[in-house]
Amino acid sequence: MTITDLRKKFIEGSYTPLDAYTDMRKIIDTDDEDINAFIEVFDDARESAVMATLQYEKEGESTPTLLGMPIAIKNNILIKGKKTTAASKMLANYIAPYDATVITRLKEQGALFTGGTNLDEFAMGSSTENSAFGVTKNPIDRTRVPGGSSGGSGAAVAMGASVAALGTDTGGSVRLPASFCGIVGFKPTYGRISRHGLIAMGSSLDQAGTLTNSVRDSELLFDVLKGKDRFDATTIGEDTYPKVQVKEKYRIGIPRDFLQEGMDADVLEVFNANVSQLVSEGHEVVDVSLPLMKRGLAAYYIVMPAEVSSNLARYDGMRYGLRVEGEDLLQEYMKTRAEGFGAEVKRRILLGTYVLSAGYYDAYYGKAENVRTMMRAELNHVYETVDLIMTPTAPTPAFKIGEKSDPLSMYLADIFTVPVNLTGVPAISVPGGTVDRDGVQLPVGIQYIAPHVGDERLFDFGKKVYDEVKGIV
Ligand code: GLN
Repeated sequence: MTITDLRKKFIEGSYTPLDAYTDMRKIIDTDDEDINAFIEVFDDARESAVMATLQYEKEGESTPTLLGMPIAIKNNILIKGKKTTAASKMLANYIAPYDATVITRLKEQGALFTGGTNLDEFAMGSSTENSAFGVTKNPIDRTRVPGGSSGGSGAAVAMGASVAALGTDTGGSVRLPASFCGIVGFKPTYGRISRHGLIAMGSSLDQAGTLTNSVRDSELLFDVLKGKDRFDATTIGEDTYPKVQVKEKYRIGIPRDFLQEGMDADVLEVFNANVSQLVSEGHEVVDVSLPLMKRGLAAYYIVMPAEVSSNLARYDGMRYGLRVEGEDLLQEYMKTRAEGFGAEVKRRILLGTYVLSAGYYDAYYGKAENVRTMMRAELNHVYETVDLIMTPTAPTPAFKIGEKSDPLSMYLADIFTVPVNLTGVPAISVPGGTVDRDGVQLPVGIQYIAPHVGDERLFDFGKKVYDEVKGIV
């Protein structure tokens, strides 16, 4: 079901928020012990569902747009009074003292929160295997990962335990789980949604995003979440730039030489079938050259750890979460951080501290920032001739749990998604077909990338090529 479906039924009274809550709770109670999409399921959602049901009876259509909608929230987004762990031992007992702006905005529209979903610790990973609360399994094939880092959010929507979910995307963490779980994942233009109340990973890359069953649902949620926030100075006011136009038919660019990198042959086939489909629908598809795209991964794994090392300095045992006693202050810091952080988080703090240290700053961090600026210029140039850029979301379908034990091979899963965060532009992943692995049909996502503040173009195009084609209303 979609938010649009549910809303219609809630207004008619043929299916109530309490029915929806009860059905989803049944799914959670039956399946989530194994799938592990949730770190915590919120029991107070039942009370909200009862209240929402009463309100629909009284007020019908005039109720707020998300009233009673069961939405799952990645557990690195603060909900006042709830445990917000970032899937780390460091914050295992941390209770959020305030609501993130995205939560405030969802609450204003009446949304109901089903629970806090599992993730890679501090959102660092592509598989949700780096969680202090155990692995999340892909509901489509439980021997495989759901993608990451918002794997719990992806699994929650794919298993029918929520109608939509919020995730965060620093290098692909909303789009990759959407691709692996067969749903829609949207990452907005940097600054269009507030980061206030999101546990920071890489501040110049992080954005909240949505995981939904239709493009229309992403748009609906985005309309609620977007806009200037006085708590986040990097947010963009909605009336401060000209809107990107939408069109009847689009001109789409494909960076062909970039696509050959480490891709599974059948994923490329699915991608090419989507290209043919677009052409048959009257869109124009052309090859474009984006030679710097292949530098994205290298630049990302400099910039991101640098920001991680700085953002995670605050977890010192004094101010938040875990504290391990030591003989003196220094020992206390060291013991707390040694025990509180997992291996991947430590790896990135070390890497980040290294690239920022005297003598290396210019060689690594400065260079990576230069590459980033050049990537932006390259993209802007290409957008003079095309409306959107199209790539697969990932080079492979969902991989096996435990398959990528080498961190470098894990990083390669992000090859098509990180350039988007480095340049700050918006992108959406929509299901494009399936490939066979051991007799199971695994979903493959197609990524569409729009120019800066072109989020609305992605929705317009996405509804045409996905919702309408699939008959989703
Ligand atoms: N997989 C990428 C990483 O590990 C992206 C993570 C994210 O977007 N939060 O950095």
